[in-house]
Amino acid sequence: MENKRIYFDNASTTKPSNEVVREMMQTYVSVFGNPSSLHSFGRDAVELVDRARKQVADAIGAKPNEIYFTSGGTEANNWAIRGFAYANKSKGNHIITSKIEHSSVLEECRKLEDEGFEVTYLDVDDKGLINFAELLHCITSRTILISIMTANNEVGTIQHIQAIAKTAREKGIRFHTDAVQAVGHIAFNVEAMSIDSMSISSHKLCGPKGVGALYIKNGLKIDNLIVGGHQERGLRGGTQNVPAIVGFGKAIELAVKDMAITNKKTRMLSEYLIKKLQDNFNEIKINGHSAQRVQGIVNVSFDNVKAESILAILDLHGIAVSAGSACNAGSTEPSHVLKAMGLDDILAQGSIRISFSKYNTKEEIDYFIETLIPIVTKLRTISPLRKRKK
Ligand SMILES: *Cc1c(COP(=O)(O)O)cnc(C)c1O
Repeated sequence: MENKRIYFDNASTTKPSNEVVREMMQTYVSVFGNPSSLHSFGRDAVELVDRARKQVADAIGAKPNEIYFTSGGTEANNWAIRGFAYANKSKGNHIITSKIEHSSVLEECRKLEDEGFEVTYLDVDDKGLINFAELLHCITSRTILISIMTANNEVGTIQHIQAIAKTAREKGIRFHTDAVQAVGHIAFNVEAMSIDSMSISSHKLCGPKGVGALYIKNGLKIDNLIVGGHQERGLRGGTQNVPAIVGFGKAIELAVKDMAITNKKTRMLSEYLIKKLQDNFNEIKINGHSAQRVQGIVNVSFDNVKAESILAILDLHGIAVSAGSACNAGSTEPSHVLKAMGLDDILAQGSIRISFSKYNTKEEIDYFIETLIPIVTKLRTISPLRKRKK
């Protein structure tokens, strides 16, 4: 086998850029103080954390004191949903979300259902969009929180976040959005967009893993998720991971600065790949919205083939893609996102996600297609699924 290695799984995680790694290394080497300490070592650390807080705030049109560092997107989503639900419990117990959210939103909502909250999970259409009229219809006097992701991690579809947020604001309902797959791909201004809270993850935008942020609009009440310290204005206990926060700040600054160039490149790659897929394969389906999408995520279903088999063979050739979302790796359940979009089980189980970064090239796509053609042909001829009735 060739030694070629191709990384087409950037929606699972990204390679930290050199600038990011350099700043983190400098921090590891020269700044080890605890940001909560009242001496010069502590002050050095605070200075770095504050700079990163401003970098994150500037990237989304927030104020630095509205940014709370967390361990990543999962914690930020868990915290926003649980924290707002309990802080607003006296007003009602109803939460609205969608069927295609990340598991860190869906599982937190299910836990809250066990605790007496009521949750409406909105349907999506075949492109992955929720229906605004249905959302309006579901709002009651007991609705306290709406949580809708900005961009979906499996198919890339972008929701009409601003309209939803405005409606929530008018009705005095908190609006949270999981923007993990959107920051660095689309422009944000949380103030102008009426967003109350928003999750960001560093490792999806060429920063380090294990760090992220929750933006919380000033003045909104939220319960703590992690207690045991006065850090992050008393709302998120625990000594901050200073080098990771420094890397995150740099990564988000670069992601927003280079957004137009990155989007142009990944859009070109996505269009090239989709054309190649359509030219070389029959019985396939490209999933998601053709226009309202983040660039760089292509989700394609191959009828009568198991995605796991495609993945395993591509991996032998050094090519990394994913089936459904990485978070569900290991489960053979069809993707909840694709099922909500109306795909049948067989088509959903034959779906792979190819996700690009600015580092990918057309030549890599050519090699990928060349490798994929015999794999799909072979798997289809031996597939027991083949016999199903059309
Ligand atoms: C990756 C991802 C998360 C989780 O972020 P982590 O930092 O890995 O915990 C949440 N939501 C979406 C849409 C994601 O893609």
